[in-house]
Amino acid sequence: MYIIILAISVIGLIPAFLIFKRVSRRARRKHLFAKTFPEEFKKIVRSNVPLYNRLPDSLKEQLHGLINVFVGEANFEGCGGLQITDEIRVTIAAQASMLLLNRKALYFRKLRTILVYPHTYVAKTVSSNGTITVNGQSVRLGESWQNGPVVLAWDSVKGGTSNVTDALNVVLHEFAHQLDQEDGTADGAPILEHRSRYTTWARVLSKEYEVLQRNKRKHRRSVLNKYGATNPAEFFAVATETFFEKPKQMAKKHPELYEELKNYYKLDPAEWV
Ligand SMILES: [Zn+2]
Repeated sequence: MYIIILAISVIGLIPAFLIFKRVSRRARRKHLFAKTFPEEFKKIVRSNVPLYNRLPDSLKEQLHGLINVFVGEANFEGCGGLQITDEIRVTIAAQASMLLLNRKALYFRKLRTILVYPHTYVAKTVSSNGTITVNGQSVRLGESWQNGPVVLAWDSVKGGTSNVTDALNVVLHEFAHQLDQEDGTADGAPILEHRSRYTTWARVLSKEYEVLQRNKRKHRRSVLNKYGATNPAEFFAVATETFFEKPKQMAKKHPELYEELKNYYKLDPAEWV
């Protein structure tokens, strides 16, 4: 009897504990968001993140708060002998946090750890067709695991950051995957604010994905990188890179896609150029 009463009491406490945890996490993030943005961090973003220099002042202010939260919350781990510095933390935080501007969330829902390698790294891969299993190697610039870490190569981060118009940005790419994975599946459909938006999102993104697949097959030029034709999740990540780095071209050549991303990110990067 006592055991049953004890079990009921413990079960009853779990939701209260979870609510308390969520409330205190929100309070901690709000506190970090409101903190003064350190002058050293400002120097790093100014020199390392050209996209930051394009932002209107109001968004810069917001980004400062989000960077504070990101640096306070994320667990950065250096791999392959890399020593994590403020330059690495802030350069990654600034770009990842661009995806959170003007939105309710102050941080990525499932993100805990960011593993940073000094150079583009080689990952072991295993593939199977049911009969034969093939062990191989794959060169990676970055990866985003569902409920797991984001893995980045620092040389790719620096390379992607320095050219702001090539639509190749590994941080924007991997953190777009994080947003996509928040609902438990990496399928190119992140959580949208209103249910009513899913129909248009699916229609526009499927159509554009098919166009990119066709362009790839026929070796036609495209504003979007052909890697986006790999699957719908990669399409969303590549479209995000293009939205931030080639907004005018995207708005001109893919107006419906641009509009969907503009609604989703609540930003209009074409106006910053
Ligand atoms: Zn990807």
